[in-house]
Amino acid sequence: MEKKIAWSKYEDLKPVFDFNENYKKFISDCKTERECVIEAIKLAETKGYKNLNDVIASNGTLQAGDKVYAAHMGKTLALYHIGSDPIEKGLNILGAHIDSPRIDIKQNPLYEDHDLVLLDTHYYGGIKKYQWVTLPLALHGVVVKKDGTVINVVVGEEDTDPVLGISDLLIHLSADQMSKNAAKVIEGEDLNVTVGSIPSKNAEKEKSKQYILDLLKEKYNIEEEDFRTAELEIVPAGKARDLGLDRSLVMGYGHDDRVCAYTSLLALLDSETPERTAVCLLTDKEEVGSIGATGAHSKFFENSVAEIMNCMGEYSELKVRRCLFNSCMLSSDVSAGFDPNYPGVNELKNTAFLGYGLCFNKFTGSRGKGGSNDANPEYLARVFKALEDAEVSYQTNELGRVDQGGGGTIAYISAQYGMEVVDAGVAVQNMHAPWEVVSKVDVYEAYLGYKAFIKSVK
Ligand code: MN
Ligand code: MN
Repeated sequence: MEKKIAWSKYEDLKPVFDFNENYKKFISDCKTERECVIEAIKLAETKGYKNLNDVIASNGTLQAGDKVYAAHMGKTLALYHIGSDPIEKGLNILGAHIDSPRIDIKQNPLYEDHDLVLLDTHYYGGIKKYQWVTLPLALHGVVVKKDGTVINVVVGEEDTDPVLGISDLLIHLSADQMSKNAAKVIEGEDLNVTVGSIPSKNAEKEKSKQYILDLLKEKYNIEEEDFRTAELEIVPAGKARDLGLDRSLVMGYGHDDRVCAYTSLLALLDSETPERTAVCLLTDKEEVGSIGATGAHSKFFENSVAEIMNCMGEYSELKVRRCLFNSCMLSSDVSAGFDPNYPGVNELKNTAFLGYGLCFNKFTGSRGKGGSNDANPEYLARVFKALEDAEVSYQTNELGRVDQGGGGTIAYISAQYGMEVVDAGVAVQNMHAPWEVVSKVDVYEAYLGYKAFIKSVK
């Protein structure tokens, strides 16, 4: 059971570092699920992918070698590279999620308190609330006017942009706060974002709020009422950076799970026409239970498979079922990377280490594997064989010591079709913190591993 660090495989680190330059750009530019979908489509179109709706609208047909994508509500995306085998024999699916923990703006958010103007929020996903205060924050999202106009908002990313922020109490007056437990130190309703403080000369009351409203009107054509329809997300401001004197790690926002989303996407885009139809499925809402029209529980993916089979002249209800039943999937999601500051939460023989390649969790869940997908040994053996043939570094692990906590991914949802699924992803430190950390070599090994999966696993 000897483990080898992946770095030592490389005589020349250039491919590893070059790949990560593009990855850093992707996660710096794409901080919401919508931004990820837009960028993924852009990358796919340069590689010859076509919109499935356009194929359907033109009564087009699909055959081996064709590349198509289907997006839904701008927040989930399925990309297909049609293989040479009959599609009924199954797909090879790389499934990752593109939503990340963050802080959402409420529908009636704007208020003034003693001349300061704030936005009220509701956090999204599992966060340690105390990590999100006293940081430069950015505002990303969309506002949709009643006439249907979509206004894209990004504030806080350019050097010349202002940033937003959430305050915390000064240490001098924190006697009461410091005696609270970590879950209560910063309460959910205290995650209010400061956005202004200049009083308007044109208002009788709530003058500072009016100043901000005038600004929103002038700069974005947004009225206060428009917040009701808005989907605005507060995320850490700034770009992903190299971490470490040797630049071996990347500190960035949203590695969970954009590190798997990006590597899965690139693995698909860089693959030759495969035997089995290859799919990259990027889902939304994983951090809140994979629910809704854009989460993994949605029928969106299944419907897109049916549409594609129809364009291939292969559609029947039974054939779609067979296709999904015969599929193989990597549920590509991050694993908890060993942290030398907190070794006690792990059992070291079965822990993911940064720098040791793609992490496989045979099962996830918590307590007695509750809520887990548990991958089949026959399938694991086939996947590991494919990785070893391609000389990809991988490790097996679980999420922490038994009974220490736990977590899940989208694996169990796809498994309902009867397909083979295993959790495979990149080790992350500081998971769900504003700035998470991954190893560059793991990012590259994930890309290579996903490519090997597309090419060889059946
Ligand atoms: Mn995740
Ligand atoms: Mn997560």
